[in-house]
Amino acid sequence: MQCVFQYLSDQGVRPRDLRVVYESIPLSPGMGEMLQFVAKQGSCFEVILISDANTFGVESALRAAGHQGLFRRIFSNPSGPDARGLLALQPFHSHSCARCPANMCKHKVLSDYLREWAHDGVHFERLVYVGDGANDFCPMGLLAGGDVAFPRRGCPMHRLIQEAQKAEPSSFRASVVPWENATEVRLHLQQVLKTC
Ligand SMILES: [Zn+2]
Repeated sequence: MQCVFQYLSDQGVRPRDLRVVYESIPLSPGMGEMLQFVAKQGSCFEVILISDANTFGVESALRAAGHQGLFRRIFSNPSGPDARGLLALQPFHSHSCARCPANMCKHKVLSDYLREWAHDGVHFERLVYVGDGANDFCPMGLLAGGDVAFPRRGCPMHRLIQEAQKAEPSSFRASVVPWENATEVRLHLQQVLKTC
């Protein structure tokens, strides 16, 4: 993406041009309603976003869709206009995970975040993880029984979970709920809340 941003800058594309593009990217079907539902539950959920895209794009898209306020933290590769006004991108962090790309391991992001809370004596009752990409598989190691993984059907995260379950059926203790439309995620969360 650093190369892509550099190329776009060389072609005269300015950050404000890219913002317009990011703002016009539609959310996945049902995702807006699902995020509204979660926002209505108040303190029942704490919502964070971990994305291997970039802060400029993620925040532009969420602001345009009216959902930025829902997320307590947004973890993504830092990006924004540099001293010349061109869009620059930095890696999120460095890590030692062999599975993940050098700039971000979502397992490390999530485990660091949970550790921060644990340090303050806060332990979440359950984790609910909605994802699609191959880089959403690594953090699955943090999910335990009672937690829920929502892999988008047919996407790499779903395939990797299926492969892991096939190789070692007992290795995956969290519930796995594949989804195509985020309405399916919302309906499942409604059921989970009934049992809280
Ligand atoms: Zn990793």
